[in-house]
Amino acid sequence: MTFVALRKCPSCGGELDAWAGVAWMSCRDCPRAWDLFSGPPEKIVTYRPAEEDSANRPEARLPLFLFGTRSGAEEAVVWIPAYRAAGARSDSDVASVLTERKHRPALVEAPLGCALARGPREALALFDALHPSDEDGTLAWQVLVSLPVRLAGGSLHEPVSNLWLDVPGIRPRVLART
Ligand SMILES: [Zn+2]
Repeated sequence: MTFVALRKCPSCGGELDAWAGVAWMSCRDCPRAWDLFSGPPEKIVTYRPAEEDSANRPEARLPLFLFGTRSGAEEAVVWIPAYRAAGARSDSDVASVLTERKHRPALVEAPLGCALARGPREALALFDALHPSDEDGTLAWQVLVSLPVRLAGGSLHEPVSNLWLDVPGIRPRVLART
């Protein structure tokens, strides 16, 4: 897996972080991710947890799509990985734990701080595959978030919510830069 900076952000001129072979790229300097290869370039806004301690830099950032579903008055969230973790049992381990715990941090617009291994359409396809029925409600919204993480042995620690996540095989190199 190659980590490359290919192009400049059409909004701010910042460098874009990308994985080789993945169309979607995230800006290092502004809260945008881009697909510059589609007809007119497509963009989405990127977010981080609002309560993140900016003075305390994380070792790495973990990109995920967050889907909001609605069933009557009930809202739920579904996390879909935007990273790939070589050697982990499944790309979806961390995301499924976050979904099970109904993890829903307050979010603010911010640069993602890591490259994407999956764009919004691929994430939606994965969401549909994992949630084929309407029993979880209908999809109401979708955002792209990166969570700060520290690595301790085979575990990830997410300090905003103090979540510990057991992810054998995940490595900082896979998660890219902060
Ligand atoms: Zn930018």
